[in-house]
Amino acid sequence: MRLVLVGPPGSGKGTQARRLCERKGLRYIGTGEILREAVNQGTEVGRAAKPYLLEGKLVPDQLVNDVVAELFNREQPRNFVTDGYPRTVDQAIAFDRILRHSVLGLDAVINFTISDDDVVRRISGRWVCPVCKRVYHMVSNPPRVAGICDVDGAKLVQREDDQESTVRKRLAVFHSTVDQLLAYYAGLGLLYEVSALDLPEVIYDNIMKIL
Ligand code: AMP
Repeated sequence: MRLVLVGPPGSGKGTQARRLCERKGLRYIGTGEILREAVNQGTEVGRAAKPYLLEGKLVPDQLVNDVVAELFNREQPRNFVTDGYPRTVDQAIAFDRILRHSVLGLDAVINFTISDDDVVRRISGRWVCPVCKRVYHMVSNPPRVAGICDVDGAKLVQREDDQESTVRKRLAVFHSTVDQLLAYYAGLGLLYEVSALDLPEVIYDNIMKIL
C-alpha cells in the first residue's frame, strides 16, 4: 500500500499516518519530522532547513526532494504513507520520478478537509511525545495520564511552530500550494477526501473504505 496524506497542519493526518503504519506495516515518511530531527542534530540539511521551519515556511523543493530521494535509495520502502510530502506540484513530479525509479506507483492520495479556525483550535491543544512521536490532543485524543505518553511514559512537549501566529502562517503557506497539488493528483485519478472533523477511529475506517 502506497499512500500520500494531504492536509493542513492539525488536520490529524499525522495521527492517521502512524495508525496506518502500526496496523498495516507501512513505512512512515514524514518530511516535517525528518527535517526537525536534522535541525536538532545540526546536520547540513538541518542548518539549511532551520530558518524555514522556524518561520513556518516551506523549505525549498530541491532540499526536501533530495531528503526523500536519499531515503528511498537507502531503504527502498515498497509500502509507505507520506505525511506532509509532497506539498507542491514540483515535489509531486519529483516524487513520481523517485517512485518510477523504484518501479512503484501510488495507490491513493487522501485529502483531509478542515477549516482554518478548526485547525487553530486543535493545534493549541496538541502535544507530542518526544520519544515515539505519537501525537495527542488534550480534548479529542488525550493520553491516559495528563502530560505523559501512553506508550513510553515520556513527558509530552509542544512543538515550537505550534504557536497560533506561526500556525496562521503555516495555513497561508498550505493554501498557497495545495489547490494545484490536489488538481495534479485529481488529474491522475488518485485523489480522495476524508473529513478531518470525525473522530480518529472513524477517519481511519473511512480511509479503509477508500482503499
Ligand atoms: P510538518 O511537520 O509537516 O507540519 O512540517 C513542519 C515544517 O517542515 C513545515 O512548516 C516546513 O517548514 C517543513 N516541511 C515539511 N515538509 C515539507 C515539504 N514537503 N516541503 C517543504 N517544507 C516542508
